[in-house]
Amino acid sequence: MSNLLESYAEVVGADIVDQLRQLAEPLRGMKVVHVNSTRVGVGVAEILDKLVPLMCELGLDTSWEVITGESDFYQCTKSFHNGLQGHRTMIPEHLLRAYEETNARTAERLRPVLEDADIVFIHDPQPAPLMELCPARKGTWIWRCHIDISHPDRHIWRYLRGFLTGYDASVFSLAGFAQALPHPEYLIPPSIDPLSDKNMELSQDEIAAVQKQFGLDSHRPMILQVSRFDRFKDPLGVIEAYRLAREFIPGLQLVLAGGTASDDPEGEAVYREAENAANGDTDIHLLLLEPDAHRTINALQRSADIVLQKSLREGFGLTVAEAMWKGKPVIGGDTGGIRLQVVNYHTGFLVNTPEGTALRIRYLLQRPGRVTEIGGKARQFVRENFLLTRQLREYLTMILAIRDGDTDRIELS
Ligand code: UDP
Repeated sequence: MSNLLESYAEVVGADIVDQLRQLAEPLRGMKVVHVNSTRVGVGVAEILDKLVPLMCELGLDTSWEVITGESDFYQCTKSFHNGLQGHRTMIPEHLLRAYEETNARTAERLRPVLEDADIVFIHDPQPAPLMELCPARKGTWIWRCHIDISHPDRHIWRYLRGFLTGYDASVFSLAGFAQALPHPEYLIPPSIDPLSDKNMELSQDEIAAVQKQFGLDSHRPMILQVSRFDRFKDPLGVIEAYRLAREFIPGLQLVLAGGTASDDPEGEAVYREAENAANGDTDIHLLLLEPDAHRTINALQRSADIVLQKSLREGFGLTVAEAMWKGKPVIGGDTGGIRLQVVNYHTGFLVNTPEGTALRIRYLLQRPGRVTEIGGKARQFVRENFLLTRQLREYLTMILAIRDGDTDRIELS
């Protein structure tokens, strides 16, 4: 057994890894390509970072390609993101042209590898048009949607759907996100990597050094939200909740840690809005982190008493699973994939308003025993449901199911 798989066996158990090897055996040598729009700073990139080497170790010839463009391309795809997650959004014609032209240029670059692949995973809307730009494709094309498209802007969905209908399958994180498409749809929630810098165990010294670096007082309570500076993550709602809770929890500290992903043109403006809302409060720490600050985020998550993810829309919310894996109760927005992870009163609390969030912060910080109890259940829940090996198992099973076509069983040998 290879080293990487062996290290997973230590965390999840040897039987789980044996099962992966068994599922992968009939797929050995298959060429698999993943395409997304950035290598860092968003959930998809976090997942691919380890999923790709693991698929390689299991014998699938797997690679990861990235579509990149100029500012108009990112403006357009950010508008798709906002529109698909339910905001009414008008996208000017010239931005749509930039989207299509960037895909056409990317197709020129990637056509040989994409047309030759047995399986192509296209992640999210950014590279969606690539399929029809690869007319000699021989493999199976799967659209993997990571965002909440339960209530999309109809115009945007109609436009994008035109690029998606020719795909062989699509994958959504939750049943509620699935849309009518003329091909099989699969439900596979995302996952976190327990061995990554973001999630591995850290020494107390390293955690203390990060607290010191950002001027955090380990003797006072601390709440944290890790997110891109994006309005759907509701940083202003978090600040409001902190203010309300602080009335009852003297000395409370808030850390809002994020960066701006390279494919997100709105990050800077949202950061400024949060800065204005913080209004010079020295117990609100707005941290703009480098995209590779994984150990720093890990240490911050371990430093927090409670972790928030007060999103207004959320595809899944990897930050939720990351915090739960570290034994932290999560107070999360009652939306999208957060609902899969946060089980009210058991692994955390679901909330809808800053007031509700403040109430739950107060409830937990005044009951340290509940923090430990809920945190313990949260870690166990992630172990059973949201580790990378579970997602990999489901991808392999899906590939086998697609390979076996209409038969109602999967043959492994
Ligand atoms: N993340 C990061 N740096 C940041 C902000 C976020 O590394 O400044 C990571 C975060 O820890 C998580 C991922 O990026 O692993 C964000 O995934 P999530 O599903 O929570 O949200 P998305 O950004 O994909 O909407």
